[in-house]
Amino acid sequence: MMERVRDEGNISRLESLFDRYRGIVPKEVLVKEDVLLKGLNFSEEALKGEYQEKAYYLFTFDPDKPEVVKRRARIVPQEIRISGGIWGLRPTIIQSRHSSNSPYTVGLMDGKKVLLLDGIPVAEVEFARRPVYYGTRLSNGMAVEEVAPAIYWGETADVTAFRICEYWGIGGQCKFCDINENFKAWGGLREGVGVAVPKGLVAEAVSIASEDQGVKRYLITGGSIMDGKKEAQFYLGYIQAVEERLSRRIPARLNTQALPPETLGKFYEAGVDYYHPNLEVWDPKLFSLISPGKDRLIGRNEWIRRTLEAVKVFGVGNVSPNFVAGIEMAYSDNFPYGFRRVEDAVKSTAEGIEFLMSKDVVPKFDTWGLEPLSWFGRAGVTPPPLEYYAELYVKYLELKVRYGLPWPKGLGEAGPGISKAPATGFMDMDK
Ligand code: SF4
Repeated sequence: MMERVRDEGNISRLESLFDRYRGIVPKEVLVKEDVLLKGLNFSEEALKGEYQEKAYYLFTFDPDKPEVVKRRARIVPQEIRISGGIWGLRPTIIQSRHSSNSPYTVGLMDGKKVLLLDGIPVAEVEFARRPVYYGTRLSNGMAVEEVAPAIYWGETADVTAFRICEYWGIGGQCKFCDINENFKAWGGLREGVGVAVPKGLVAEAVSIASEDQGVKRYLITGGSIMDGKKEAQFYLGYIQAVEERLSRRIPARLNTQALPPETLGKFYEAGVDYYHPNLEVWDPKLFSLISPGKDRLIGRNEWIRRTLEAVKVFGVGNVSPNFVAGIEMAYSDNFPYGFRRVEDAVKSTAEGIEFLMSKDVVPKFDTWGLEPLSWFGRAGVTPPPLEYYAELYVKYLELKVRYGLPWPKGLGEAGPGISKAPATGFMDMDK
């Protein structure tokens, strides 16, 4: 175990939260959420050797602008796993979110990678290993990881099929989202992929990934298409193309808008196991302000109705709309609408979780990453305090037990030291 050094800054703040939530929220969850909120810096020395480099994904998730991230001599790892250290942490997987201003840095000490907080080593670090299937060439010569990179510590082959979102064209984009800016910054470097990845390439790539013993499921995600019927047709085409080759060798997750109920059966028959119609935020006013495109084109009530209908098709535990945890506290002079107090934010979101759970829907979370080129990033909003996440997850567990529901089934196993979900700590909670 690393030697303990006294400090008066971020470490003390974290440790006082460890005390406050002892026996209720694992330390691992608090550290993970803090890293996700603040991002991570990496010393150049730490970025040596072979590891899985961060791949193109829906959003950048980086607190730094792409121009800053591009200045790195080497791409940072997809995910890190922290363990041990001064708090004796169980292994905890965390998505890399690049921030040169973060108090967290991955550096090298005595030849070993460590997580430093305010310059003090607090945990040991491993980088995600390069999956065995990486480097395999698709029929057009492209590396498979450009189309189906691995996330969840190698367990999920992820496909961002549509790399922009049509809501941006009508000023209706979700205010936390940087999908189109991500494509502008990084998409052009992915030659031969384009805005909509050809279905044949996706089928090939997922098929190759599925041969890897570590890959347990695949995910099809991407931006929205304003015409709901066209969107359904578009994403259904990917599932069908993949399943023609895969024949259900591994399960499929699908991230789309809330699809028209009459189309859901086709997705189920085509091979979708887990469905994520992402509602993002519960409060009705905040939903209309934060996701104006979704609100205008589908509407919150209809979104919720379709989500409930989906349980009849996919089953209990298999419908998990995402909430971007924390956006209900977004606040600045340019956006003076978010909740100011943690208890009010948690009360609102918990009301939504309870309503959905009472109807057999099992919501999930991703921790909000405040990207500078999202609407919120430009509006200078502030993220929530760490306590918000602790309070929200305590409430989530309480409701999950009360309604006798499983963990969202498409996310793998849950529990501290076990969960592979990289962008949230709620799956690292004690059962
Ligand atoms: S629907 Fe919202 S979150 Fe999803 S890609 Fe479009 S703008 Fe981004």
